[in-house]
Amino acid sequence: MKKTSFLLFCILCFFSAYAQEIFHREMRLMGSRYDLYVVTKNADSGNYYIDMAAGEISRIEKLISSWDSHSETSKINRNAGIRAVEVSEELFQLIQRALTISKLTDGAFDITYASKDKIWKFDGSMRAMPSPEEVQKAVSRVGYKNIVLNKEKRSVFLPVKGMKIGFGAIGKGYSADQAKKLLISKGVKAGIINASGDMTTWGHQPDGKEWTIAITNPLNKEEVFAILPVSDKAIVTSGDYEKFVEFDNTRYSHIIDPRSGYPAKGIISVSIITPSAELADALATSVFVMGTETGIDRINQLPDVECIIIDEKGKIYTSKHINIDQYEK
Ligand code: ADP
Ligand code: MG
Repeated sequence: MKKTSFLLFCILCFFSAYAQEIFHREMRLMGSRYDLYVVTKNADSGNYYIDMAAGEISRIEKLISSWDSHSETSKINRNAGIRAVEVSEELFQLIQRALTISKLTDGAFDITYASKDKIWKFDGSMRAMPSPEEVQKAVSRVGYKNIVLNKEKRSVFLPVKGMKIGFGAIGKGYSADQAKKLLISKGVKAGIINASGDMTTWGHQPDGKEWTIAITNPLNKEEVFAILPVSDKAIVTSGDYEKFVEFDNTRYSHIIDPRSGYPAKGIISVSIITPSAELADALATSVFVMGTETGIDRINQLPDVECIIIDEKGKIYTSKHINIDQYEK
């Protein structure tokens, strides 16, 4: 073999030994669709790490699910008005962080939201607006300030019977962060955890390029208005354009303002971009409730958090540091 071809041979061997590929699996976890992507050397290791991520997400589901009667969350809810429940450090800290977000958003985000009676239905069965009394009654047990946390005993007490907590607006983000953290600790250099649109990425694509995401207009999914680089970032979108009711030409969404009991209106989609998927998840729901003006104002005060809002007329608003026009379409 000539010297040059030998050199070429060595380079090829080197690259094939280190060539990385993207492996993907779609799975149903936490009652939602998850798309797990890892960048690894071969399918065996790809599968191994995807299984590991799925195991971590299932572990978190067992901790926070309100459907699973054995979860710590269900135990707290069952004992509302009865007694304080000792929980794991992990759940205790998640509740503490959720309460911090409630304070940050003046209660627009509230895990006790789950205490509410279901008076808004989004299955087409509603014929009239509920009366103000009904709405008031439905949220009478809601209020994050009433949760009693005891740090020494690591216990949680919901003081009113019928009060409940639920992690519907933060759990998917938390699980994505944890799965990512675990895979990074095991040496996986790059990947994406996408929990039905709540996604987080790390590292780069095998060709060295950044991960990117296409932002579409929910009113016309074909219309991509920006392609954003999202390496080492989470991007979470809130807003289900199919789940809403309409009265007197006003559209009411499935995300409810826990303070008033009325559904949020005016916005059809909020995307938050920030390193933590948990924070992005919670803030996306919060901005939905706070509305465009207050929402953007609040986001502009937070370091390294950006948002893109699309209102019901299809108009796009962004936080101060994000200029979608600068990104290629
Ligand atoms: P999705 O998961 O549907 O994309 P979100 O992350 O915004 O959307 O979460 C919505 C879920 O969060 C609701 O289905 C409900 O369980 C819960 N939720 C609704 N409003 C609030 C609120 N204001 N604060 C906390 N949780 C909420
Ligand atoms: Mg959310």
